[in-house]
Amino acid sequence: MPPVQDKKFLSPVRLDHEPDLVYICPMFKAVFPGSFDPPTLGHLNIIERASCLFDELVVIIAENRQKRYFFTAEERLDIMSQLIKPWKNVSTLIWDSLIVDYMKQKNIRLLVRGVRGMEDFSYEFELSMMNKALHPNIETLFMTTDPKYFVLRSTSIRELASFRGDVSAMVPPLVAEALKAKFI
Ligand code: ADP
Repeated sequence: MPPVQDKKFLSPVRLDHEPDLVYICPMFKAVFPGSFDPPTLGHLNIIERASCLFDELVVIIAENRQKRYFFTAEERLDIMSQLIKPWKNVSTLIWDSLIVDYMKQKNIRLLVRGVRGMEDFSYEFELSMMNKALHPNIETLFMTTDPKYFVLRSTSIRELASFRGDVSAMVPPLVAEALKAKFI
């Protein structure tokens, strides 16, 4: 990210009503936050496509203390670390606070979220409004799911696995094994 004072990277158009707001462009880095409990082929598809759009993509494993997860944060990180190996510009980490705080700290402006349909969109839209209120410099980029993966949902996959259903077409083999191990 170029330093703020480097004028050539600042947006040439400035609106007077927000004199303190500095938009820095271009945006090379993005984050893709989520529970990933567990990661599915739908998540991986978004990661793959986003990794081609940005120089660097950070997959943030959200650890919200108010939420109960099936896989621990360390398990989700371990799984994700193995899954992202093919992409050299993708990294992952656990974050247990506001995503916008991470972005602010690292000077990252772009937040990627996947959208499977209208239901996802209305939730994601509200979330993006909240993030914008917290940190106006952040832009949320909605990426529509690939039609092949639009029915994939971590919750339903966990449920299916709990009944020993076949999840091999929905998650990478590593995740299928991890689910199997949990339900033995
Ligand atoms: P969260 O608990 O933050 O919603 P998830 O792990 O469920 O985290 O999802 C992370 C992001 O990935 C969300 O933006 C979600 O909409 C998106 N996502 C989940 N499943 C799919 C899918 N099959 N296709 C595209 N995007 C998806």
